[in-house]
Amino acid sequence: MSIRPDEIVAVLRRQIEEFESELQVEDLGSVLMVGDGIARVYGLEQALAGELLEFPGGVFGMALNLEQDNIGVVILGPYEHIKEGDPVKRTGRVVQVPVGESLIGRLVNPLGQPIDGKGPISSTKSRPIEAQAPGVVDRVSVHEPLQTGLKAIDSLVPIGRGQRELIIGDRQTGKTAIAVDTILNQKDQDVICIYVAIGQKASTVAGVVDTLEKHGAMDYTIVVSATASDPSPLLFIAPYAGVAMAEEFMYGGRDVLIVYDDLSKHATAYREMSLLLRRPPGREAFPGDVFYIHSRLLERAAKLNDELGGGSITALPIIETQAGDISAYIPTNVISITDGQIFLESDLFYSGIRPAISVGRSVSRVGGSAQVRMMRQVAGSLRLDLSQYRELVAFAQFGSDLDRTTQARLARGERMYEILKQDQYKPMPVEEQAVSLYLATHGYLDSIQVGDVVRFEREFLDFVRKQHADLLEALREKKELTAETETQLKKIIVEFKKDFVS
Ligand code: ATP
Ligand code: MG
Repeated sequence: MSIRPDEIVAVLRRQIEEFESELQVEDLGSVLMVGDGIARVYGLEQALAGELLEFPGGVFGMALNLEQDNIGVVILGPYEHIKEGDPVKRTGRVVQVPVGESLIGRLVNPLGQPIDGKGPISSTKSRPIEAQAPGVVDRVSVHEPLQTGLKAIDSLVPIGRGQRELIIGDRQTGKTAIAVDTILNQKDQDVICIYVAIGQKASTVAGVVDTLEKHGAMDYTIVVSATASDPSPLLFIAPYAGVAMAEEFMYGGRDVLIVYDDLSKHATAYREMSLLLRRPPGREAFPGDVFYIHSRLLERAAKLNDELGGGSITALPIIETQAGDISAYIPTNVISITDGQIFLESDLFYSGIRPAISVGRSVSRVGGSAQVRMMRQVAGSLRLDLSQYRELVAFAQFGSDLDRTTQARLARGERMYEILKQDQYKPMPVEEQAVSLYLATHGYLDSIQVGDVVRFEREFLDFVRKQHADLLEALREKKELTAETETQLKKIIVEFKKDFVS
């Protein structure tokens, strides 16, 4: 039997190739122990922090605790089938999500996989979920408004593009409602919206998606969802996945609005994960770096300078409080990270003031410079008037005979609170808000019964839209109340009041 040289060459080649593949085996670890969605893996000394690791069955995990002789991995999916001794492969990349236009209109999980049954997402680009926030030099200060469409917010706690404004309140006080209305109001505003649902019931998320769809808002919105029944690591990465998607648009010069609903559940998921990874617990059993998980997330909201395209990410994180306690650990953390907060109160909510925004405790630290001029003109004194009113109310409880000015103040304040009420899913364009607020702040409602204020406003706006569309048009164009438009507005109000039947 003769052996031809080319056969020998082929064998040698194969051996060399196999030798190489044997080398890769070094990047294969094995599961030491597994349970509660956490695995300890031996033999992956080279793994990176945050690296994606592959378990049998196509399930991925994220390397979190890099210890001397093993690594702690959180499993991002079903883990019941993973056993001791199973192989674990390195992928060499940190956790990434697909990004880009093709995600718009879709409901995805925190790995960017579609969960809306509308077929695969054809995205060619991806971004790591953890990324460095833009530095000070890359940013400019917030100067363009992001209209929420809610009178109480746009007038009292205006939000600017690139700002981080916290929505905080007890459960069932209308937190999600504010975020959803803000998304609805971005229609035709060239703002891309991302709603990140963390730890909510799947049915609640479906409800939100349904609302967005009904109002045509899914045309510019991405929904990222990790529900209460998902493993906690998925909940943990959800907001980072969302902001990675947002960054793709921001660095492309676009404006993005991102809602994290809510970060309380995010912190809880992180606590669960950390305790299972045996990290030492601290205050309220949260690990010591729980501040950092939120600060590095919210730091990624920014308004970029013109050289970088001028894009922005506006963040609306949501925090749920227990019995209005804003001094608990997680609420204080997030309050200190954000540029202001919208504080919602159960008492107001149940007394019918909706949105239930507490005027005294809500602030916007940077949005004022972004507020449109028209709004500043009509609502400049609103905050002061409302707080004076509240003081008077407390005081008036004790005395029965009040002087005229006090009575007038009380009457004005009551009507201002009425005018700030707004139904859900009815965001208003800024010029209509200005007209409404003008009614209250200039005393045109003083002679209207409190119970009629809401109807008066509605009918008046209808009247203006139908008969005096040119006024709204002028306000929209100029963005300010000129002497001319103000005279016209006054005339219209007088004209309308004559025919208003109370
Ligand atoms: P959770 O803590 O459960 O997440 P939440 O604070 O997000 O609650 P929402 O779900 O937004 O609160 O609202 C609670 C209820 O109040 C809902 O039924 C919603 O329809 C109603 N609601 C919210 N805002 C308004 C409003 N402006 N006018 C009337 N009803 C409202
Ligand atoms: Mg909610």
